[in-house]
Amino acid sequence: MVIHDACPVCSCKEISVFFECRDHFLTEQIFKLSRCAKCGFLFTQDHPDEAEAGKYYESEEYISHSDSSKTITDKAYQLVRKIMLNKKVKLIRRSTGLFSGKILDIGCGTGHFLNSMKRAGWLVTGIEKSYKARSYAESKFNLEVSDTSQIAKLNSGTFDCITMWHVLEHFHEPAIIMKEMSRLLKPGGLCVIALPNSNSFDAAYYRNYWAAFDVPRHLWHFNPETFSLFAVACGFKVTATKTLPFDVFYISILSEKYRGNSIPQLTGLVKAKIFFLRSLFRKERSSSMIYLLRKADH
Ligand SMILES: [Zn+2]
Repeated sequence: MVIHDACPVCSCKEISVFFECRDHFLTEQIFKLSRCAKCGFLFTQDHPDEAEAGKYYESEEYISHSDSSKTITDKAYQLVRKIMLNKKVKLIRRSTGLFSGKILDIGCGTGHFLNSMKRAGWLVTGIEKSYKARSYAESKFNLEVSDTSQIAKLNSGTFDCITMWHVLEHFHEPAIIMKEMSRLLKPGGLCVIALPNSNSFDAAYYRNYWAAFDVPRHLWHFNPETFSLFAVACGFKVTATKTLPFDVFYISILSEKYRGNSIPQLTGLVKAKIFFLRSLFRKERSSSMIYLLRKADH
């Protein structure tokens, strides 16, 4: 078990339990979320260490790592994914100013995003911890995907762009992965990091039922302010923020399910639409954020 006695972002020792969350997805175990009094960073406290963490991912339903399409929620997720893949390709092209280049996707899962980038003309490299997801990406899309341990073997200064779509919050040592990203980027290269937003309208509404707390798989619960501080501490600067507008629908349906609602799809969609409309005027309160980062010395 990992016990934090100081804030993982600013090292302040004044941390206190904010509230408790249940692992609604798999084990029903309860975990504490702690918050730093100085910078406001929220994180999962007393969480399993890396060796123990594997069992919290052992489910066929873990959609990020499998490609299940058994339920309506899974189907909706996959339709949205299709639309979002196109948007992500456009975002990378526009933000890097490149029509082709070298891209590294850390935590590439089953490889859908990398496959889209490959089809758009990019040279792609994938890193993925799950053997099952790696095999899928290799057999379905003919992608070369390596285990997380192989990041250290990649050549320095070789990538125009590095992406992490809802991945950093799973890493036990997020500062180390940021350091590796800094090493791997070409001068002037771009990092794109997508994360759930713990300061979103839906997080405030669902509180400990908010599906994107997803304890203990999600260890760090960033918001635009705390992520900016973390990025600076890692030698990066956030140059722009975007949103992932559809995530709120998936998260709200799942949160309604966790609350025991008998019609989670309908209620979730109605409430998500309200959260979504409100976030059009307050982007920083969207369910998910995309942060575009460059190294601070560029
Ligand atoms: Zn702090």
